[in-house]
Amino acid sequence: MKLVYLDNAATTKPRQEVVEAILPFLAERYGNPSSIYGIAREARVALDEARGKVAKAINAHPEEIIFTGSGTEADNMAIKGVAYAHSKRGNHIITSQIEHHAVLDSVKRLKKRGFEVTFVPVDSYGMVDPADVEAAITSDTVLISIMHANNEVGTVQPIEDIAEIAKSHGVLFHTDAVQTTGHIPVDVKKLGVDLLSLSGHKFKGPKGIGALWVRKGVKMEKFIDGGGQERNRRGGTENVAGAVGLAVALELAEKEMESEMTRLTGFRDYLIKGIMESIPNVRLNGHPTRRLPGNASFCFEFIEGESVLLSLDKVGICGSSGSACTSGSLEPSHVLLAMGLPSEIAHGSLRLSLGHETTAEDIDYVLEMLPGIVSKLRAMSPFSAEISFDDACKCK
Ligand code: PLP
Repeated sequence: MKLVYLDNAATTKPRQEVVEAILPFLAERYGNPSSIYGIAREARVALDEARGKVAKAINAHPEEIIFTGSGTEADNMAIKGVAYAHSKRGNHIITSQIEHHAVLDSVKRLKKRGFEVTFVPVDSYGMVDPADVEAAITSDTVLISIMHANNEVGTVQPIEDIAEIAKSHGVLFHTDAVQTTGHIPVDVKKLGVDLLSLSGHKFKGPKGIGALWVRKGVKMEKFIDGGGQERNRRGGTENVAGAVGLAVALELAEKEMESEMTRLTGFRDYLIKGIMESIPNVRLNGHPTRRLPGNASFCFEFIEGESVLLSLDKVGICGSSGSACTSGSLEPSHVLLAMGLPSEIAHGSLRLSLGHETTAEDIDYVLEMLPGIVSKLRAMSPFSAEISFDDACKCK
């Protein structure tokens, strides 16, 4: 059966070049970068080169890059590291209602430790209003954390504007750029942020490796105690193979970014138009234009996203309902609820995320299969006759 992989926001297929770059570091080049003999020095050089490539890709200095075990770890490290290092100055953190759980659960844990947290709202497109962020700042605010783009609905946030506000109030600003790095331009100087998280497996690198960029001079408490690795900011023998793979993937993604953005935006808009025209009672989630090139997210009235996914799987199409981390949960997505969707509509969500391997034939195949799947499921749905989309959807 044909396999159409449209879950690239959950993870991506590693490039062949990445696999080839990694393999020697899992085999003969196994030295510990902290040791002093030949194979160890080779590992150190490879790690330093990887750090240099990542820094170059985001317009940073190599010594500002901390390799982590994931995007989740980078988010945890940024938020808890900054909060604890500045707790004498203030105990207030600002974030948004639609962050990934790596951020949301980090600030919730801090809340249990006595920090105050403001969750700014979003509009019906999932967009944060910088004025809401500014209004939330108090003399106790030590950190703002707003994601660059949302993983479920793809909306790209006005990070530069929020960064200006943060700077004018002397507050540190972290952005979770896990969904944007390698996909749209990420330049830490242009964005104006102080800390930024990224993750290898979202741009065709390996899983289990991410990075946190911390602007020189930003004070952070050490998050993982142990050895003095990563300039004494993260203990633990480095994942050399992972770092090498992440750096190669990012370097290649940067090279192809412009053409990939154009290609995927074209496919995405073709897919969105096709679905909106061929299926009644469907809503596009997220901003119509300020969205990730590969993200197409919908809510279908009267049916469950999970049942659409299972039917798609039967015909070889991989998608997702909400984010990979929350699928399996029966709760509707916190992102869609924050955007003002009622829970019965939010339950019918489907995210199709396009990527490097996506072809025009893949999109045509989805457009051929999905309308039939939706109408078949609706025919079996006990809700079809009861709720009207317009009545149920009181969007903000
Ligand atoms: N932040 C965002 C916006 C994400 O989409 C994800 C992954 O889905 C993460 C953080 C977590 O990254 P990782 O899977 O590397 O832990």
